[in-house]
Amino acid sequence: MFRIKALEIITERKARENAVPRGKISDYFGELTFGDTAMREYLTAEAYEKVMNAVNYGEKIDRKIADQIAASMKAWAIGKGCTHYTHWFHPLTGTTAEKHDAFINPIDGGKAIENFQGTELIQQEPDASSFPSGGIRNTFEARGYTAWDPTSPAFILDNTLCIPTIFVSYTGEALDFKTPLLKALSAIDKAAVDVCKYFNKDVGKVIATLGWEQEYFLVDTALFMARPDLVLTGRTVFGHASAKDQQLSDHYFGTIPERVMEFMKEFEYEAHRLGIPVKTRHNEVAPNQFECAPVFEEANLAVDHNQLLMHLIKRIANRHDFTVLLHEKPYARVNGSGKHNNWSLMTDTGVNLLSPGKDSNSNLRFLTYLVNILKALHTHADLIRAAIATPGNDHRLGANEAPPAIISAFIGTQLTKVLNELEEQGKINHNNNSELNLNIPKIPEILLDNTDRNRTSPFAFTGNKFEFRAVGSSATCSKAMTPLNLILADQLVQFKKEVDGLIRKKVKKENAVLQVLRRYVKESKPILFEGNSYSKAWEEEAAKRGLSNIKSTPEALIKSFNDKTVRLYEKHKVLNRREMEARHQIKMEKYAQQIQIEARVMGDLATNHIVPVAIQYQNILIENVKGLKEVLDNKTFVKLSKNQVQSIKDISEHITEIKENVNKMIGQRKIANKMKDNQEKALYYNKNVLPYFEVIRYHVDKLELLVDDKLWPLPKYRELLFLK
Ligand code: ADP
Ligand code: MG
Repeated sequence: MFRIKALEIITERKARENAVPRGKISDYFGELTFGDTAMREYLTAEAYEKVMNAVNYGEKIDRKIADQIAASMKAWAIGKGCTHYTHWFHPLTGTTAEKHDAFINPIDGGKAIENFQGTELIQQEPDASSFPSGGIRNTFEARGYTAWDPTSPAFILDNTLCIPTIFVSYTGEALDFKTPLLKALSAIDKAAVDVCKYFNKDVGKVIATLGWEQEYFLVDTALFMARPDLVLTGRTVFGHASAKDQQLSDHYFGTIPERVMEFMKEFEYEAHRLGIPVKTRHNEVAPNQFECAPVFEEANLAVDHNQLLMHLIKRIANRHDFTVLLHEKPYARVNGSGKHNNWSLMTDTGVNLLSPGKDSNSNLRFLTYLVNILKALHTHADLIRAAIATPGNDHRLGANEAPPAIISAFIGTQLTKVLNELEEQGKINHNNNSELNLNIPKIPEILLDNTDRNRTSPFAFTGNKFEFRAVGSSATCSKAMTPLNLILADQLVQFKKEVDGLIRKKVKKENAVLQVLRRYVKESKPILFEGNSYSKAWEEEAAKRGLSNIKSTPEALIKSFNDKTVRLYEKHKVLNRREMEARHQIKMEKYAQQIQIEARVMGDLATNHIVPVAIQYQNILIENVKGLKEVLDNKTFVKLSKNQVQSIKDISEHITEIKENVNKMIGQRKIANKMKDNQEKALYYNKNVLPYFEVIRYHVDKLELLVDDKLWPLPKYRELLFLK
């Protein structure tokens, strides 16, 4: 019934009148951020300089200056209609959090003034007892602090001044995703600068750059509301494939439907006002799947902008009666959604460290960073696999459409040749100090517009950056950016130690660099793969090479959480053991909870929606057969009722299978729920509850094909995927 009602509603939908003013994007870009333009206008020269020093060199801002900045921010925000302010942070739920306070301060005589102090800008103490902390913060000491992150500009959302902050416990432990990210970014800055000095003494700072590509599905809200599974889990737990879905590849880069276009224009407008440099929009592979990508930015800012964009698109979709699905796999058998993380390093002298150069010095620099990344990835592949592990992404990874659960890197034929050459030279010439040895392989110039693009690789070099493709569409990019920058920082420290060691032994600098790189190329070779990562053959080959192929979230998390990882995080002061243990617990708990919710939804839907309708239809068939028997002679009856009778039997069988398997699944859930240990519970859910999903789904989807369309209670794939 809900389905039919929903279908009626949506056939009447039209594109919403567009709310975007005409004019150039540059006229309003960033108008809702307290960025450079606003700061120059509102801050004193001294305060501006202090903020810049905080941004660029992490210098502290004292109380007096903080008061000044707060006053200026307040003036700017109130001028733009703000009544409230909030610290905006990224708790371990994976979304963003805010708690609004009015600028108001009562004064004598029943009046009030707008007030905002430096202390309120710099630090707040939200009651944080309901955020996940993995046991770090007990409820009796519920205090958590948020502290201003000046490297990401304050912005205005809903007449509220939002101040990006980190979130830490009373005892100083990180309770968010931003804190470790900032620490990893600072580690990579230091390590990359130190190595840069081999090639250019002027480099004083290196930033990580990130350009994300956000994929998402749109579904009409009326249909969405008629699917309890979408509402509660973000994905369809049932649904037979549509006769046509993506097999004709006619959606990819196709014309964007008008209603969708109006939605895109509006969210892009809002994104631009917030300084998010969104640039690209297009249809994706699956029907009703789309992508949005900005120009890359400094990684911390890009992470914030992605969080903000996910919030914005959900919001603005509502105005157009769409619901955005950020889940990695909302529909079975059509493509899921990812969030490619394009990642590189940039110096304060304006050089992209993953950009091949024109002379031998810049070529050597390029090779240094490239090879160190490959080496780091090889050493820490399990950690990188764990970074993208979520129940949603488990449906993508290893399925025949997304990067596999095996971490490997693609660099293209040209660079493969270059690395081989580099390695070969080491074999030809063993004399460390000979001139010949300084032959740095030439990087072909065509590399930059490399068309040799392997879409099946989870981690691909694309001309002047790496593209980490295995990241899930709903994830915060900090989950990928923190470990990637951390492992590279650690690797570069190691590299420098080895090169310096050789230099001390009187090996020439270039030669020392080359020698170490050669060894790295050899050692990290197993991580390189140029073929089709989706193929069965690669799974076998990867196993031979000793690469992990970890299919489930709990296993990925367990595999990567060990002493080696803890040492890595502690060495660079990104997270300590206690913080990591807490995070591990949270992830395990969350995994079990999510599978539990899906299992419940599945059980409810099957029992309360599907089975009753199947019985209803079966009764119609039974009545029909009885009627035939009355009006037909026995021989004709036997002949003509055969199909109906078979359907009645089929329906009974599916119903029986559904009921039995739902009951067994509930039994397994009961066992799991008694477990106290989060890790044990997550594993149990994975091994003993999850397998029922496919079985139950199989029978429900079969019923969908048998039961009268008018009676079927849930919107079908052809409706969810195609109705505009
Ligand atoms: P595609 O991968 O879809 O072919 P592009 O190669 O044009 O698209 O770029 C995709 C993303 O890569 C964009 O978000 C872009 O900003 C980002 N990107 C480009 N250069 C860099 C860089 N140096 N560092 C980080 N991201 C980058
Ligand atoms: Mg891409």
